[in-house]
Amino acid sequence: MQDISYTWQQILEKLELRVSSVSFMLWIKTIKPIEIDDKDNFVIAAPSVSAKNQILRNFIDTIGDCAFEVTGKPLKIVVLDQNEEIEYLKNSKVEEQIVAKKEEKNPFVAKYTFDNFVVGKSNQFVYAAARTVAENPGKRYNPLFIYGGVGLGKTHLLHAIGNYIREYSPELKIQYVPFDKFTSDYISSLSSPSKTQAVMEFRGKYRNLDILMVDDIQLISNKKETQEEFFLTFNDLILSNKQVIICSDRPPREISTLEDRLRSRFASGLIHDIQKPEIETRIAILHKKSQLEKYNVDDEAIEYIAENVDSSVRDLEGKLSEVYFLATLAGKKVATIEDAKEIFENHREEIKNELTPDKIISVVCDYFNISYNDITGKKKNKEVVEPRMLAIYLISEILSIPLVNIGKLFGGRDHTTIMHSRDKITEDLKVNKKTQTLVNELKKMLTSV
Ligand code: ADP
Ligand code: MG
Repeated sequence: MQDISYTWQQILEKLELRVSSVSFMLWIKTIKPIEIDDKDNFVIAAPSVSAKNQILRNFIDTIGDCAFEVTGKPLKIVVLDQNEEIEYLKNSKVEEQIVAKKEEKNPFVAKYTFDNFVVGKSNQFVYAAARTVAENPGKRYNPLFIYGGVGLGKTHLLHAIGNYIREYSPELKIQYVPFDKFTSDYISSLSSPSKTQAVMEFRGKYRNLDILMVDDIQLISNKKETQEEFFLTFNDLILSNKQVIICSDRPPREISTLEDRLRSRFASGLIHDIQKPEIETRIAILHKKSQLEKYNVDDEAIEYIAENVDSSVRDLEGKLSEVYFLATLAGKKVATIEDAKEIFENHREEIKNELTPDKIISVVCDYFNISYNDITGKKKNKEVVEPRMLAIYLISEILSIPLVNIGKLFGGRDHTTIMHSRDKITEDLKVNKKTQTLVNELKKMLTSV
């Protein structure tokens, strides 16, 4: 049996990125992992019946997805309430009635299909390439390397290829693996008592394939052995015209730990990025998602969400379900723009409450690539003066802290100096486009930390 608390910790890290911070605090953090049993049931316990119901209604799929990413197995998520937990621990046997998710033999997430993928300007090229590869593996674009920010649909496309192959070419052997799973598999084969056999098995698993899909290759480490093994696997497959598809959150040139020989191998195929969706695509995605999840959300609310979330599809989906569930909690049949506004207002408040002067200062430092000591210190060169004034302005504007206290944060400066900085930026904002852009960008970064 695996070490459940370690596995759960890794799953939590992924969940934290996918659900709102309120949901995470209220529901996810209260979950207690119990065990992954030998039938691939992942048993978790909620602290109450209502918490169990919330989890079943809102988070079960996301937990399943994250558990899959961490363990590489399509686990059946079983949620227990506090009484069921006691019974379970007594009998150590899962009852059928409390099984929350239908068992799937398919190793690919069933809803991640090409049909459920909304195509727009931002992703049409990558979508077409993925389809070509699914229809004719090993013939063109080999390897296919897809990169792009978190939550833009890379993993969805890999699973779509998987689902497509299972349906139309079930005879083909296809394997999906997140890179960290590839690494840990390899390392555990190396440390097995029957090492030679374990390594042979590992190679059998990854080389005896028609299609290998490797997700999150940016997690490739400096470890020489793993890169060597991956290089061999990769070459082996490509040389025998087997399809390799790789996803990453950044282009190969920006993966610093990637060896040059792999980088140049990747360049021999097709490398393309997936971008953030534009507004039309965001609206279409929200419609699609509402239809799939049977959420009743009106057009106006959908447009409001699409206008206010421009980060990732994952965030879009998260906001959509929050809006819908807020409406359901209030007993409404259809979520409207009022619900959407409330969610975003709460979110803004929440972020504001979490912001501290130190956070603002460090975001400004990161942005301008200067040190904390410089920004709060005495230096008067242009490189630090402007960031300092901006940080002072932001702290004063967002947190409404007394000027004297801001002065203390900046090396004991006098409050009139602080006021001067604040007013200078306020004036600049009226006339200077560059300042406007800077302040907007910084605010955006602050509200997404
Ligand atoms: P990534 O692997 O790039 O971080 P995922 O593939 O996990 O992102 O996508 C995050 C979520 O957004 C998933 O639920 C996925 O189904 C959804 N998604 C992303 N792009 C699209 C799209 N174009 N159409 C529909 N759903 C999408
Ligand atoms: Mg992914």
